[in-house]
Amino acid sequence: MGKLPHITSDAERFSIPDVRVFVEGRATVFENFAEIADVLNRNPEHLLKYLLRELGTAGKVEGTRVIFQGRFSQEMIAGLIDDYVSEYVICSECNRPDTHLTKSDRTVMLKCDACGAQRSIRKRYVKKQSAANVLEEGQTYDVRIEAVGKRGDGIAKIGKYSLFVPGAQKGDTVKVRVKKISGTLAFTERVTS
Ligand SMILES: [Zn+2]
Repeated sequence: MGKLPHITSDAERFSIPDVRVFVEGRATVFENFAEIADVLNRNPEHLLKYLLRELGTAGKVEGTRVIFQGRFSQEMIAGLIDDYVSEYVICSECNRPDTHLTKSDRTVMLKCDACGAQRSIRKRYVKKQSAANVLEEGQTYDVRIEAVGKRGDGIAKIGKYSLFVPGAQKGDTVKVRVKKISGTLAFTERVTS
């Protein structure tokens, strides 16, 4: 009996520390970046690249933290870390985090050390991207103005995007047409319906 393998639930023991994020001027500091990368057992470079791509901004590692250009909320970064974990860390067969990334040809594979399952990252990732990429130029959206920017434009949020709505007041619900998207910023005009 003593020779039976001891079964532990790694999935339950796997807990990711809360992200610590704060805005400093026009930049955002992700204070415990190195710690998170370490807990996820992933290359910090890989995690950083993912975050920069998702946020559509630039940033650099400074010691154990990362400084992003632009202002991002803690919830947003936390959400991206969650996405990263389900995309690049957790085995979709056994739900454990004991995995590693390998490359075969040009496809990145997630291999599970616990159950041996493997899946391709790329396909899943592309699928998620198209689903999350909700904003399109020329389309109309109903948005709620959450803030007013320095130049007096109302600002609304859809996913990772900040939408600027000229002449809108905080608390307004308005229909807007997206005129131009630049990174995670979208410039809109109001549509009267
Ligand atoms: Zn597995």
